[in-house]
Parts: sequence; structure tokens; C-alpha cells
Amino acid sequence: MTVRTRIAPSPTGDPHVGTAYIALFNLCFARQHGGEFILRIEDTDRVRSTAESEQMILDSLRWLGLEWDEGPDVGGPHGPYRQSERGDIYAEHARKLIESGHAFKCYRTSEELDELRETRKAAGLHLALKPADLALPEEEVARREREGWPHVVRMHVPASGTCVVDDMLRGTIEVDWAQVDAQILLKSDGMPTYHLANVVDDHLMGITHVLRGEEWINSAPKHQLLYEYFGWPMPTLCHMPLLRNPDKSKLSKRKNPTSINYYRRMGFLPQAVTNYLGRMGWSMPDEREKFTLDEMMSHFDVQRVSLGGPVFDLQKLSWLNGLYIREDLDDDAFLKALRDWAFNEAYVRQILPQVRPRVETLSDVMPLAGHFFSGLPAIEEGDFDGVKLGREDLVKLLQFLTWRLETVPAWQKDALLAEVKALAAHFELKMKDFLAPVFIAITGSAASTSVMDAMAILGSDMTRARLRHAIAVLGGVSKKQAKRFEKEYREL
Ligand code: GLU
Repeated sequence: MTVRTRIAPSPTGDPHVGTAYIALFNLCFARQHGGEFILRIEDTDRVRSTAESEQMILDSLRWLGLEWDEGPDVGGPHGPYRQSERGDIYAEHARKLIESGHAFKCYRTSEELDELRETRKAAGLHLALKPADLALPEEEVARREREGWPHVVRMHVPASGTCVVDDMLRGTIEVDWAQVDAQILLKSDGMPTYHLANVVDDHLMGITHVLRGEEWINSAPKHQLLYEYFGWPMPTLCHMPLLRNPDKSKLSKRKNPTSINYYRRMGFLPQAVTNYLGRMGWSMPDEREKFTLDEMMSHFDVQRVSLGGPVFDLQKLSWLNGLYIREDLDDDAFLKALRDWAFNEAYVRQILPQVRPRVETLSDVMPLAGHFFSGLPAIEEGDFDGVKLGREDLVKLLQFLTWRLETVPAWQKDALLAEVKALAAHFELKMKDFLAPVFIAITGSAASTSVMDAMAILGSDMTRARLRHAIAVLGGVSKKQAKRFEKEYREL
């Protein structure tokens, strides 16, 4: 048997360090067994999936040196590798399950579903809806079908008992069937849910081992049942520990930058980031902290993964990155790293129009444009003294802008300007006054190049990181404030 593993990201946002971490372990597991590593795009959520996000995921994994043998861009014998292009396959498999009596069409309306849940809640029962709860009299089903009501396809699940799932790291996991609902497999628009598409694809793509984040443990019973219904062998499961913030909460962008783009933009070296991800819950047999991807592959042993939540600590990563710069880069490699990072023609060309009208000598350029070549600016609370806004409004403005910018799909100056204008109107501020604190947050000074252009050139991750940094410098957002802000923001 050839070992085949995969990473199956959903292209719904920034390329997440968690994706790279899981990809790395799948890659190492496959290589250690002389096997293959596949990349599959799970883009069944048509509203949230974007081509830009997919491209960023591919680019960042490649930047980290995590190469795949089959995938949407390199092809392979089991394609297409994008779920949005496999619709017929899922419909066909859903039909098979209906025919074999393992799935059923459900014509329940969302009001009815709410009512059913209320009834269960009132009776003190688990909220999972079971096939028996959902059943309608036969004539009613026939009527709704005749009248063309929207419907979903759901799977049958046992009403009670215990489901036992094997996990490479955790031994057996037991889940009470009472907690598992009659999972939707096909949505009313005919698109599959994650569960159906994931199982069908893992089987058809010959996946033998599934290493994925522990947040998917609850899906395992449903998946196991689907494999049984189809009569397919199930891949071996391995649920990896989740990455955590230093305070042990789940790694989240509110507390830590989670986008690989951010680390790239900050000037981390890909080999250091990959090495650091390899240290997340795993260690080399000799416990050394610095190792290459090749070394990790050749010493890999999944049983060395420890389940205690690994902490993704920026300071440690920075320390490791420094080691790489000092120990591994000779002058030529250092120069190349600088060029790849920001001292390249494509990037510098974007900055020329920004500085040209504002300089008299070439030596004026760096003091004026240094913020294009740096990380988080060295700002202090006092730098905002000149801004005519109370502290709370100041922080709120920066926070609202950060939130708005998180949702900008295509990072271009026009789109950013539209967001800024809308918010300035909300705060009843002139553009100039609205932008004053943003200017300091982004450029680190009160006079520099155009802030809107700077944001467009710096990109989403660096822009948002600088806004978050400014908020932190201003004392951060208290829990109470956050509640107030969120309420007001929702009503925008
Ligand atoms: N599309 C899922 C994700 O975004 C894949 C989960 C799995 O590996 O089964 O992580």
C-alpha cells in the first residue's frame, strides 16, 4: 500500500499558519513512508470561497517549501482537485446513499427545525436532530416533493449507543450517538457539505491517512458511518493538537497574527517558519530546536507528537529566525533574502511615485519611506496627542477600521478608500481628521507619504498588524469596551 496523505484547505480567507502546520505533518508522514502528499481545495462554500484565497494558500505553502505531488495546479490522476468541480460525483454518491436507505430527502422548513429544537430543549434532550424527529408523514413528503419544496439530503444516524473511533495518537475516542445529528450531506442548492465531499474525495483519491486538526474529532463518527454505508475502508485518522496563543487559548488572529502572509511580510525566513511549525507538539529524537525540513522528514515519527496544546510563540519564532540569519545565511544568501523580501524592483517601483514629489536628494528617501521596509513602527501613546479625539473614540476608530479591512476581498486602494469613507461618515469626521490617527499607526509618524497608498502597498496583513499594534500601544480594548464596540459595529 502506498501511503497517501493530504491537506484540504478551504479557501475562505488568509492562508493560516494552522493550515501550514497540518500540511507539514501530512507531508512528513507521507515522505517518511515513501508515500505521496496531495493538496485538495475544499471550496464547497461558494459564498466564502475565493480564487484569491486559493492562490494565496498555494503560494504560501510553496514559499514554506511544502510541495505536493498532486493538486489543482499540478494535476494528477485523481483530479479534479477542487471540490467545486466535482459536483456530479457528490450528487451521484448522495443518490446511492438514498437508494441504499442510508440517507433521505428532508423537506423540513427552517421554522419547523427551530420548533423541533425548541421541543427537544424543553424536554431536556440533546439538540441533535435525529431522523425520527425529522420524519414527516408519507403523504406530506409526497405533497412537498410534488410542489417542489426545497429539500436537503441527510444521513441516517443511530438513535443511541456509543460510537468508537480509532485515532493514531489518541487511541480510541468514544462519542455518544445521541449527540450526533442526522447530518446534512447535500444542501438545498445541491452542493455537498464538508462531510460528504470530504469522505467521497478521501476515498476516490486513495487517501490512507488523515492527519487533521482536533477540531474535526466530532466529525469522525459521521465519517466512519459514511465509509460503512459506502462499504469502503476508512483511512487511519490522526487528530493533531490545535495551535495555541501563549495564554493557551486557541490560536486566533485577535491575539496573534495567524496569516502566513504576515510572517512573510515581516521578514521571517520560510525555513525558520517551517522549522518552528515542526516544533509544534513534535521534537527531533535528539531534541534539537533547529532542523531542516529534510531532517524532519527523515526523522519523522508521528508517535512523537505530544497532545498538550503547542504554543505558537512569536518571540520564540523570532529567536529561531535570528539563528537562521546568523548561522545559515552567508552574505550572498542574506542579500538574496533581502531582495526576495522587499529590496526588489517590483516592490521598490511601487514606492517611487510616493516619494518622488516629496524628496530633494536621494538620501531623503529612506527617512521618508522607511515604513515600507519595516515591521511594526516604534510608536508611543504620546504620538497620538495631536489627534483631536477622546481615547475611547480613538481606539474605536482604529478597531472599526481593522474589522472593516478584514473583509475587503481585493486589496486595492479604491476598495480601501470606500471603507475609510464609510467609516469617516459614521464617526462624523472629515477624511483628514479620520485619517490622522491611521496615519500614525501605519507610517509611524505624523508626516510621511500618503497613508491610503501606504496601506495599499503594504498589504492587508501588515496594515492590520500595524492598526492592532497602535490599539495595543493605546492601552488595548477592555472586555467591556469590546462588547460595546461589537454592538455598535454590528449596527453599522
Ligand atoms: N476543509 C477542511 C479544513 O478547512 C478540511 C478538514 C479535514 O482535513 O478533514 O480544514
